[in-house]
Amino acid sequence: MSLDEVMTDGHESVTFFHDETTGLEAIIAIYDTSLGPSLGGTRILDYETKEKALEDVLRLSRGMAYKAAAADLPLGGGKAVIINDPDETSETLFEAYGKAVDSLEGRYITAEDVNTSVEDMAIVQRTTDHVTGLDTGLGDPSPVTARGILECIKTSLDQVYADRGVEDIHVAVQGAGKVGKALIDELRTAGATVTVADVDEQALSTIQEEYDVTVVDPDAIYDVECDVFAPCALGGVLNDDTIDRLRCDIIAGSANNQLASRKHAEALDAAGILYAPDYVINAGGLITVYHEMEGNSKETAYEDAEAIADRLKTFYQRAEENGTTPLEEADSYAEQKMQGTDHSMVF
Ligand code: NAD
Repeated sequence: MSLDEVMTDGHESVTFFHDETTGLEAIIAIYDTSLGPSLGGTRILDYETKEKALEDVLRLSRGMAYKAAAADLPLGGGKAVIINDPDETSETLFEAYGKAVDSLEGRYITAEDVNTSVEDMAIVQRTTDHVTGLDTGLGDPSPVTARGILECIKTSLDQVYADRGVEDIHVAVQGAGKVGKALIDELRTAGATVTVADVDEQALSTIQEEYDVTVVDPDAIYDVECDVFAPCALGGVLNDDTIDRLRCDIIAGSANNQLASRKHAEALDAAGILYAPDYVINAGGLITVYHEMEGNSKETAYEDAEAIADRLKTFYQRAEENGTTPLEEADSYAEQKMQGTDHSMVF
């Protein structure tokens, strides 16, 4: 990614942090703060290059801004990446990272994300107040995120089949991490058939001990004949190589940035696959951390996460009326919110 591309990407600010003593290498990207302070988790990955880390954080922070706006939250969008082996972190690294967050004076509020935990955020809090998703608050937001996804799967079933409930369907879940596991729990409780894949053998054996599921190899998950494909691992999984292989009618999962590019939303539409926009349906996590900041209860977070399904229904209806895709409708709603030209949805 060139400097020009970064400068023209529409972000309010992109800040690089380097701390020699602890080895911290982090990037904090703030896409938009017009609706409120930018809020987004911190991801730790051993990125091959700094360019790849930059690309990831820019895409993720933009996604957070759209997510907050589409969920009618008074928040902007930001995200952070720490370039590090997730197994080689230390308390001093997280303390240095907290100082980096603090230097942005509240324009960015952090929380947990892939490879960071509630415990890590408690360490970050030693050096900044601009952190949420803590053990003292509403805790891990993943079960709330999973509830939102489940409700959106139900709405998507109504859209595609009219007469099928969760108990009648087969869902292929990619990733049995925090959200994937919680989603499998919801799906199995509701009586769905579940096939799951993960690159982490330990995560899979935990799932197999607790739930009656079929396990397939990570690459084979795309070929599973199912009703719903639920990507709950990393981004970019809907791409030129995978879309032709999919044998599902609906895609609804928690992963951020599932589409490798915008054209892949059209490819899915052309293939007759209903794509539930990722940032709309996975807003349960953001909703949880927002309610934690406001001092509200977990029940309120669950209620709001369940109501995401009503928003999704609205985007499905608008797409039908306008001959567009649900993603285009969600994007347009979020953009108008950020520009102050659309009003919040009332249900
Ligand atoms: P996690 O790290 O707990 O789980 C991710 C899982 O995916 C891990 O078990 C990992 O081994 C697995 N995985 C990685 N690569 C894989 C591959 N190629 N094939 C199959 N499995 C693979 O993360 P999480 O919190 O469950 O989040 C999952 C996704 O949902 C992420 O994209 C995250 O940004 C997004 N998300 C999470 C929340 C939340 O509340 N936690 C909210 C919104 C969005």
